[in-house]
Amino acid sequence: MELASCPICGKLYMKSAIEMCPKCLAEKEENEETIAEYVRTHHRCTIEEVHKVTGIKEIVIYRMIESGHLQECENLYYPCDQCKKIINKGRLCKTCMESFLDQVKEMKSKDENVEKRKNEYQSAGMYTKKYDNY
Ligand SMILES: [Zn+2]
Ligand SMILES: [Zn+2]
Repeated sequence: MELASCPICGKLYMKSAIEMCPKCLAEKEENEETIAEYVRTHHRCTIEEVHKVTGIKEIVIYRMIESGHLQECENLYYPCDQCKKIINKGRLCKTCMESFLDQVKEMKSKDENVEKRKNEYQSAGMYTKKYDNY
């Protein structure tokens, strides 16, 4: 049997398919149950609210949402990564997502422009060369 140190508390434990020691696993499961229970009974609650009421770290709640554990609770609202508007899907709100996509598009078209100019410049250079040869 193999020993591993728990990524949460650092204690050694018998390595298994589970990535943490039994104590932390029990704690995690308990936390998740508490979160799920709170969300079930308090629709439209935010992560901040769950955190304040239950005392469970926000990162634990985020992880639960990300891993799909709170999928049945569509009413869990949390702030957008950018503007802090309250959302319940993804990391960005619709507005921030759109402006993000716009930025990506703009960057791409800038790249394309540079590429186009470079090509123009190079072919122009080639023409001059050609003419020089004549
Ligand atoms: Zn542990
Ligand atoms: Zn936003």
